[in-house]
Amino acid sequence: MQHITILGSTGSIGVSTLDVVARHPDRYSIYALTAQNKVEELAQQCARFRPKVAVVGSAAAAQKLQELLRIQGLSTQVEYGETALCAVASANECDAVMAAIVGAAGLAPTLAAARAGKKVLLANKEALVMSGQLLMDAVAANGSTLMPIDSEHNAIFQCLPDGYGRVPAQHGIAKILLTASGGPFLKRPVETLEHVTCEEAVAHPKWVMGRKISVDSATMMNKGLEVIEAHWLFGVPAAAIDVVIHPQSVVHSMVSYVDGSVLAQLGNPDMRTPIAHALAYPERIDSGVEAIDLVKIAQLTFEQPDLQRFPCLKLAYDALHAGGSTPAVMNAANEVAVQAFLDRRIGFRMIDRLIARVMDAMPSCAVDDIESVCEQDRRARVLANSYIQP
Ligand code: NAD
Ligand code: MG
Repeated sequence: MQHITILGSTGSIGVSTLDVVARHPDRYSIYALTAQNKVEELAQQCARFRPKVAVVGSAAAAQKLQELLRIQGLSTQVEYGETALCAVASANECDAVMAAIVGAAGLAPTLAAARAGKKVLLANKEALVMSGQLLMDAVAANGSTLMPIDSEHNAIFQCLPDGYGRVPAQHGIAKILLTASGGPFLKRPVETLEHVTCEEAVAHPKWVMGRKISVDSATMMNKGLEVIEAHWLFGVPAAAIDVVIHPQSVVHSMVSYVDGSVLAQLGNPDMRTPIAHALAYPERIDSGVEAIDLVKIAQLTFEQPDLQRFPCLKLAYDALHAGGSTPAVMNAANEVAVQAFLDRRIGFRMIDRLIARVMDAMPSCAVDDIESVCEQDRRARVLANSYIQP
């Protein structure tokens, strides 16, 4: 029996993880669930999965949750705040941690899980973008296992040889081909992007996801973050990571080998597949996802991304080249810009302009510990906010 902590259990990835877990009560039990403020949903999840601990974002939310649990006669222990998140991510009673908090808020508990030697199922790509070297070092130093949940990286993992040690040349790996759907604005006239609405931006044609990653997909910053994520997970330089637009979202990514072979992983766009893969690896378990019908799909198409249309993708390559603090700075500026767009305080194209401005203003510096990463993150947020009209 594996005991699991789900960080961000009320989110899109959290709910999909619970769906897979519920199919295998003989294999998995829930140690802890966490949510920022969706207290009613968390209470329902507690009633169904009976975790030992539940963590929320504030004292007020904790009080509300406690009350809801008391009415149902549940004995789940309720905690709140970052220290409690780190505690449930590193507790002795827990074997595996699903890191599915969105954004920089996921960094501390994800790092805590790695430092405690847990099996870390990583959905929270922002954590790796911010502190790639530190997180990979923590994984290596503490015997932790890092399993990619992002569909592209999970696909790449599946196309790599067993025992791949993050040295591509040793295994004849020439390139990583990251596929991207292109999001909702792939074909929209570029000059009209200035005026797209939040509703249009979050309406992803293929995937149902949280609001932040949906906007990231519309700007293609999501793919940019994934380029950096691939660099750290697989030890591949930026020059060997290509992004390919594939609107059908059937091929989830590919690995190209020096002998001309290209290995791909295909499947329906449903996150339960990578979640089930990462949970059970090296075994295979039912995820609730049906196999694809290739005849019905009939056509798979591929094209090059247009960097005029998607400047965020270029910014992410620039950040990876710059290294040091720049990926964390870019990530922080993006989080501020996306939230401002979702709050209707800035237009869609202001997202990339704001990020570029913050990156220009904050030259790369070395970040040797988590405190310096967080300090750069904080400074980038202050700067980004100062560029937004009140
Ligand atoms: P979501 O917005 O649906 O859920 C986020 C979860 O994090 C919620 O449970 C929320 O309560 C919690 N949370 C939010 N802010 C928090 C904070 N400050 N402190 C603690 N908890 C907080 O997001 P999602 O779509 O499930 O994405 C989660 C992560 O997984 C993101 O990093 C995203 O990039 C990544 N991811 C998602 C998908 C997908 O299909 N949804 C695919 C690949 C990667
Ligand atoms: Mg992805």
